[in-house]
Amino acid sequence: MATMFYERDAKPEVLKSRKIAILGYGSQGHAHALNLHDSGFDVRVGLRPESSSVHKAEDAGLRVLGIADAVAEADVIMVLLPDTEQKRIYDLEIAPHLSAGKCLMFAHGFNIRFNLIEPPSDVDVVMVAPKGPGHLVRRTYVEGGGVPSLIAVHHDATGHAHDLALAYAHGIGATRAGVLETTFTEETETDLFGEQAVLCGGVSALVRAGYEVLTEAGYQPESAYFEVLHELKLIVDLMYEEGITGMRFSVSDTAEYGDLTRGPRVITEQVKDEMRNILAEIQDGRFAAEWIKENEIGRPRYRELREAGKRHPIEQVGKDLRAMMPFVSAGKQKVADVSGGDTD
Ligand code: NAD
Ligand code: MG
Repeated sequence: MATMFYERDAKPEVLKSRKIAILGYGSQGHAHALNLHDSGFDVRVGLRPESSSVHKAEDAGLRVLGIADAVAEADVIMVLLPDTEQKRIYDLEIAPHLSAGKCLMFAHGFNIRFNLIEPPSDVDVVMVAPKGPGHLVRRTYVEGGGVPSLIAVHHDATGHAHDLALAYAHGIGATRAGVLETTFTEETETDLFGEQAVLCGGVSALVRAGYEVLTEAGYQPESAYFEVLHELKLIVDLMYEEGITGMRFSVSDTAEYGDLTRGPRVITEQVKDEMRNILAEIQDGRFAAEWIKENEIGRPRYRELREAGKRHPIEQVGKDLRAMMPFVSAGKQKVADVSGGDTD
């Protein structure tokens, strides 16, 4: 059985006596900084002086320093910069100020798992990874809840690494929901697999294929959109609340019979084999090498595929239909305020 931690397990005192630097003020950065600040911890934010986030963090009542200065001043440094930028910033502005006994934290294991960042052996290296986007880390905290998180210890130089990670998780509200012990390897590999095969890649390909089959058969694009995209959220909400069996309980018997007999014909053993190939590419580092290379050459394939995705017919139909349902996108402004776009 997995090891879970809750409120009573955390020792916030170990972190109360230390200075915390949050590097970056994007999706995760703003949420961690504000939650820790509201939980009574000593927080400063490290940003580039020209970053458009400087005034946002200052307006929110936080102290902002340059990245190198924040690292130099702090005992605990949480790296909430884009994963693809972390190595460069680590080499230039973090490593020179990582003296013995400091604690380096990450919210995703990519750079440690694939050896892009190799911290010195006299610092703690831990992970606190919320299992949700930053705006929810902030919103659920303000509402009195929290987002479940993973913690992992990659290297315990001081003997306090685990306590610090758990205290940090406590400070952002995660122990209210549950904190699961994992490793950098498990977090990185399952996270990449989940987003590639199921959550982002798998689902968007499934939705588009279903839309294409219906419209190519002559059904109205609007019907196809409502059926395979709009309604997906309603079904996923049921799965989120009650599991797959609970979802099946809520749909009609006809829908359930179709699910039971046709689902396995869509996701065949061949599809599962391809998922295994995707996992193997993650595990042996091929995906990481490909993505690092893509970044080094200015992301040509990434841009091309992203633009092609925007031109798919489901996007225009969806845009028109959603314009008639403004309530559907009610939460969007909030998300745009704190993330996306702001990677300057
Ligand atoms: P983000 O892109 O929203 O924010 C990154 C921030 O870093 C920017 O807002 C900016 O303040 C700063 N920044 C960007 N480029 C910079 C540069 N070149 N130099 C200096 N500063 C720069 O990133 P995020 O989504 O908050 O991700 C941060 C970390 O959290 C990543 O390791 C990510 O994997 C992890 N994480 C993200 C989520 C999520 O839902 N967004 C969930 C769990 C873990
Ligand atoms: Mg993930």
